[in-house]
Order: sequence, then structure tokens, then C-alpha cells
Amino acid sequence: MQKTEVKNIRHLTLRDIEEYFESIDEKKFRVKQVWEWLWQKRAMSFADMTNLSKELRESLSKSFTLPAITNNLSQYSSDGTIKSRFKTFDGHLVEGVLIPVEDRQTACVSSQVGCSLSCKFCATGFMDRKRNLTFDEIYDEAALLNEMAEKTYGKKLSNIVFMGMGEPLLNYKNVLKAIERITAPDGLGMGARRITVSTSGISKMIRQLGDDGVKFNLALSLHAANDKKRSELMPINETNNIKSLIDALNYFYEKTKNDITFEYILFKNENDSIEDANDLIKIYKQIPVRLINVIEYNPIENADYEKPDKEATQKFMDYLAAHRVNVRLRVSRGKDIDAACGQLANKDLEKVG
Ligand code: SAH
Ligand code: SF4
Repeated sequence: MQKTEVKNIRHLTLRDIEEYFESIDEKKFRVKQVWEWLWQKRAMSFADMTNLSKELRESLSKSFTLPAITNNLSQYSSDGTIKSRFKTFDGHLVEGVLIPVEDRQTACVSSQVGCSLSCKFCATGFMDRKRNLTFDEIYDEAALLNEMAEKTYGKKLSNIVFMGMGEPLLNYKNVLKAIERITAPDGLGMGARRITVSTSGISKMIRQLGDDGVKFNLALSLHAANDKKRSELMPINETNNIKSLIDALNYFYEKTKNDITFEYILFKNENDSIEDANDLIKIYKQIPVRLINVIEYNPIENADYEKPDKEATQKFMDYLAAHRVNVRLRVSRGKDIDAACGQLANKDLEKVG
């Protein structure tokens, strides 16, 4: 590594920093101090690293950059949910949500600026995919939401779900690296089993998760139980059909034994009939799925789907339960501030200066 190279210091490994400090004849114990500032004390600039000499801080700021995500705006829902808008160093806005439920503090984080997959019911899908978030940016979202949980509710984050903006498996390397930092004792120190990555279903990358022996859980956004209906809702199904997803999920489970859940948004007269429930049961029986989360549809501006009424929803759920499906209704949170699933980006997030 060239010491003249101007590089994001958080993209260096601990070993890289050690080598750099050797090359500038700096004391070894300083490496740990810097590492702590980068990952635990979350310095926003080299000037913040107050236990380092002024010379070292200056030399670091000449050789490296330290771009961090900042909290641009927070909105508070009457149900306790807090939506935050984060700003990247280059002016993009992404959203993260803190959801306090009973004894849990769940953070919902974004993995991309926008999304390229254009699911017909999702507000993020109507934005272009601007870029991937880097692993340190994803880490920052979790760290900022953790700080907010501590400050507002006096508790640390207990869970993280990758259900914000973007498709995590199309930003595979950064998502895995972010989770490595989130779970590392010298990072946020969270258990991997408390993390769930939600995917619209990229078969090849689900298999890759199995090959990489990841420890976190996986949620598949299924939403329709036959290919015709699913391809209409989610164009990604045209190249990653249900059969390929069943095979990939079984492969993932064989390799990791980690939890798999299905997400199934109910759309009135689209996927809520008994025939649809039967198709869903057939898929459920082919994979060791722990739970089906039936999700209330949150209306978005660009689509005219509707959610079924309470009775129809209950009938669908009861039918599944009667067929020994472990099923739960997930009621949306933070509706009054557009923090509910699929509403992220509803209020046109434009690039700001
Ligand atoms: N791209 C990933 C993760 C982000 S979306 C994925 O698709 O799984 C997170 C969850 O919100 C997904 O289950 C998604 O289908 C759901 N969602 C999107 N739009 C929604 C809406 N309008 N109402 C309810 N859930 C929605
Ligand atoms: Fe992207 Fe997920 Fe929204 Fe589909 S549901 S457009 S994959 S964020």
C-alpha cells in the first residue's frame, strides 16, 4: 500500500493500518487506538481522534479520507418507530428505521441507494438504483440506529433486518463485510443470529450464502406462489423462478441450517384466494421454512393494489394454519411517517448538494 494514496481509511484492514504505521515509524499501540475510533467510537474526522498526537492526526488526514454517513433528519411515529434519513458523503439519501417492539429494538437498514429490481408494489423500486452502499456506510446506519436506540429507549439494538432500500444480494460483498463488522467484538458485537437479510430472490447468490457459510438468517420476499403471478409483481422472477429459489433455499439450509422465513404481502384479488394459499402450502412443504410472515400491503403512490379486508386476511391465515403452516401477520409500523415497508423513498428522495 502506498502511503501517498488517498483512500477511505475504513477500507483498510487492521493489518494494513499496522503496515502503514510501521512505514511511518509510528508506535504500534496507536493502531488499536485508531481502529477504535474508526469502528467503535465512530470518529467523524481525524481531528476527533483526541488521544492521538496532533502530528499523527494531520498526517492521517493527508493520507486518508474518513467519509461517514450522517443523520440528516429523523421523524417520529406515534407508535414509537423512528425513521431516519441518512446522507452519504457524496450527497445521496438513504433511509433506516428503528422499530421498538416490546423488549426488542429492531433496526431496518438499506443496502443500496434505490433499487434496480422494479417490484410493482415497492416505492424503492420506482427509484433508479444510484449506487451500492459501501460496507462502512451500511455499518454506519446500524451504528447510528444503535445510538438512537440507546438515547431514546435506553437499550441497544437487539435485531437488524436488511429490509430498507435496495436488494442486499446485489450488493453481496458490502453486505457481508458490513455484517462482519456489525458482529465483530471490535465492531458492534451483535450476534449474527439476530440479523436477517431479506431478498427478492437471487438464486445464485442464495447458494453463494450457503457456500460462504454465513450465520445470519434469510427472508425470501415470495409474495406470490406461482410463477405467472410472481413475475407480474416482481420482474426478477423471470430469471429466478420459484423452482430455482426452492433449490437454492434448500442448498442454503443444508449448508448453514440458518433460519428461513417467507414474506408474503397480501394483495386484494391478486394473491389472496384459497387457490393461492394452496400453492403457497405446496412451496412451504418443499423447504424447511420456519415461518411465513403475511404482510399488510402499504399503499404507495405509484401502484393501485389494495389490501384485503380483515376477514379475507384472517381467512387466508386460518387456512394456512389449518394446513400446519406456521404463519404470522405482520402489521406495519410507522405508517404515519411512511416508515413502513415499501414506503421508503415514497416522498421522493432527491440527491442533495
Ligand atoms: N430488496 C429486498 C429487501 C428490501 S424490501 C427484498 O425485496 O426483500 C423489504 C421488504 O418490504 C420486502 O419483503 C418487500 O417485499 C416489502 N415491501 C416492499 N414494498 C412493500 C409495500 N408496499 N407494502 C408492504 N411491504 C412491502
Ligand atoms: Fe427492490 Fe426489494 Fe423493493 Fe423489490 S421489494 S424493488 S427488490 S427493495
